[in-house]
Amino acid sequence: MSEAQKVLLVTGGSRGIGAAVCRQGSKAGYRLAINYASNEAAADALVREIKSAGGDAFAVKGDVGSEADILAIFEAVDRTYGRLDAFVNNAGIVDAKARVDEMSAARLERMMRINVVGSILCAREAVKRMSTRHGGSGGSIVNLSSAAAVLGAPDNYVDYAASKGAIDTFTVGLAREVATEGIRVNAVRPGIIDTDIHASGGQPDRVALIQDSLPMKRAGTADEVAGAILYLLSDAASYTTGAILNVSGGR
Ligand code: NAP
Repeated sequence: MSEAQKVLLVTGGSRGIGAAVCRQGSKAGYRLAINYASNEAAADALVREIKSAGGDAFAVKGDVGSEADILAIFEAVDRTYGRLDAFVNNAGIVDAKARVDEMSAARLERMMRINVVGSILCAREAVKRMSTRHGGSGGSIVNLSSAAAVLGAPDNYVDYAASKGAIDTFTVGLAREVATEGIRVNAVRPGIIDTDIHASGGQPDRVALIQDSLPMKRAGTADEVAGAILYLLSDAASYTTGAILNVSGGR
């Protein structure tokens, strides 16, 4: 079924899993709002790609670690499209491999500010626009958790794993809170996915090092995660809310 005219906002939508969601979302008929943090060239290139394939998209810069930026991102969607039907709470970070006994308060505060507080504030803004309680027409939200939420990521980034555990709990709670207001809230838990996030966290060879230990002996692709996200956003998942779907190749 086409999602024609519907508007989809993806935080961190310019690269990795978010960019795959934008490409598949455009093919499904959504008009796209693509948020990014700093790499304007990558965001602009994706907007051009989507438009040249006949879709509609714009890029909006903003750090989900800043409440002022989050407000500006959602206001840009209001100004450009005047509606919001689907939201993917995708932007998230890892940090350098470290044990908990090596972690600084500054690291932990940044991790929780971007991955947890930022995601909850973004969802707040989405709910204000979608909820029938606020005069909206409903919508669908998908949060990005991680297999790390269940595995704990010992010796790598327990702080990141804990931030995604918070996303799991938030997903269940928000789903129940807005279940009668036309909004479904779900999450995906990707396993090891081949994107730039590992290099950004200082482990560019993480996929190569770990893939033989994975049940399917390979990492997943951003497109494989995006497919699950598009399903959860769509009406095909109309009775699915508060669900957390593992997209982890059995990990
Ligand atoms: P990625 O390849 O590192 O993509 C990063 C995207 O997020 C870029 O668009 C980047 O913008 C944007 N971004 C980074 N920090 C931001 C911030 N503070 N505010 C707004 N945008 C920000 O990441 P990914 O691997 O696709 O991961 C996407 C999500 O999936 C994350 O929540 C991650 O935790 C989760 N996940 C990933 C994996 C995996 O193995 N890859 C596994 C489990 C869960 P710029 O281009 O401007 O930097």
